[in-house]
Amino acid sequence: MSYCVHCGVKLEASLNRCPLCNTPVINPNEPYPDPAAHPSPFPHEKGQIEVVKRKDLAILVFVTLSAIALVSGLLNIFVFKTTHIWSLYVIGACLLLYVIFLPAIINSPISLYGYLLLDGIASAVYLYIISFDTPSNRWLYGLGLPICALLCAVAITFVFLVRKLSSAFLSKALYVFCSIAVVCTGLELLVQYYYHETLQLTWSAIILAVCAVVAVALITILSRSRLRNAIRRRLHF
Ligand SMILES: [Zn+2]
Repeated sequence: MSYCVHCGVKLEASLNRCPLCNTPVINPNEPYPDPAAHPSPFPHEKGQIEVVKRKDLAILVFVTLSAIALVSGLLNIFVFKTTHIWSLYVIGACLLLYVIFLPAIINSPISLYGYLLLDGIASAVYLYIISFDTPSNRWLYGLGLPICALLCAVAITFVFLVRKLSSAFLSKALYVFCSIAVVCTGLELLVQYYYHETLQLTWSAIILAVCAVVAVALITILSRSRLRNAIRRRLHF
């Protein structure tokens, strides 16, 4: 029995190179092991199991969601023959789930920004489908789509900041608090605009104030390296 001189891993007698770090094995007692007499216990080629698994998962998700959509549509048409088209909710939710699960199940060339945009569009389409079941679609254009666009824009900005500026834990926390502040302020203003009220911050002002205090504290910590390192050591990240 021998061990790798470089990384110390235990080696089979048949190996002439370490399987972990690829260092050549030189054993003075067994100068050149015959590979034919001792076949390597490790496979020569790497398997591609991951791709097949993802494909199977994609088929399963697609078939399951399509089946749910189809069955609810048929039930709506043939069994529960009401004028209320409730199956649209189920079909829309299935489509939405499929779009959201897409990045997890297939290797696609679309970037993360593209996916976030796609999720936003899918949510907008779902709201549009629901609007067929409501007496008026004023809520869709006044609230639904603007809120959808706001959340989508905040999510894309968050990813952009993490990628371009800093992905450290404290920086991410700063972006999260800024995002919460933007979303809450936007929501309150959108709702007031929809109900033709005067635009002024009330409940979102409290959230904005709290987020501002936290953001100032985080910026101070981030700009003082001694403070930042002390916190990093204590919280172990
Ligand atoms: Zn090694």
